[in-house]
Amino acid sequence: MVTATFRFYEELNDFLPPDRRKRAFSCSCARAATTKHMIEALGVPHTEVELILLNGESAGFDAILREGDRVAVYPKFECFDVSGLLRVRAQPQRSLRFVADAHLGGLARLLRVAGFDTVHENFPDDAEVAAYSQREHRIVLTRDRDLLKRRAVTHGCYIRALKAAQQLAELVERLDLAPSARPFTLCLRCNAPLRPVAKALVEAGLPERVRAHYNDFLTCDVCRGVFWQGTHWQRMRAVLIHAGIAVDEPAGRDTLKHAVAGRAPEGRDRGAGDPDERSPDERAQDERVPNDPGPLSRS
Ligand SMILES: [Zn+2]
Repeated sequence: MVTATFRFYEELNDFLPPDRRKRAFSCSCARAATTKHMIEALGVPHTEVELILLNGESAGFDAILREGDRVAVYPKFECFDVSGLLRVRAQPQRSLRFVADAHLGGLARLLRVAGFDTVHENFPDDAEVAAYSQREHRIVLTRDRDLLKRRAVTHGCYIRALKAAQQLAELVERLDLAPSARPFTLCLRCNAPLRPVAKALVEAGLPERVRAHYNDFLTCDVCRGVFWQGTHWQRMRAVLIHAGIAVDEPAGRDTLKHAVAGRAPEGRDRGAGDPDERSPDERAQDERVPNDPGPLSRS
């Protein structure tokens, strides 16, 4: 056994018991234990760590701890500039594509609204999520520490907030997402790109009040949903702004640049047909168009 001294910084302290937070503490380490082994043994998922200083020098996850070592551990994306220091990974975590675990569907939808490619599927287990994230180079978003501790997860973020809007704000701040946001460019249901569509192609399926007041529409080629800048759009815009993401003013009810809600069809494999191939019942549902089942939906 060797004894090393650890000090964790900023939000990494959330993973520690109170008596170890924001202070240096000594800890016995198994022989040949690595920095990664000990950091995780102390309760901090390695995916949360951006920088390790071992006796004042940057070190990797595989550094072997020796008697008397001092280990300072920093989280990702702290405000201080770590760019001059060697990071624990060859590539900093800047590929802004995500995979959200099963419990973060609301956050996944909001990330899509903000324009971030976010997969949210029913994976059979944590191992599948981890493998998928590695294969697809996606950042894992989860409230499950054990998932982040998996070896296959090289990039992940532990989400602290419980509500989707707060989760989005937390993530935007932590990963400095605001400059990369592209609001209302992805379908919140399918994660597929939205594209402008001529009013003439969609208006027959629209509720009368929408047809009368809106001229600009977007559509998703996967779910065939039609989106415009209605009340649902306004609510989502408010959530994005609250999270620190700039969103254009509504262009006026008759000159809309962005969009909102449509209605998901029954099947995703529907061909690229006229989105008006809908029954009167389906069209009537467009009256309730903000039908996203997530936290933004009307109650
Ligand atoms: Zn869609």
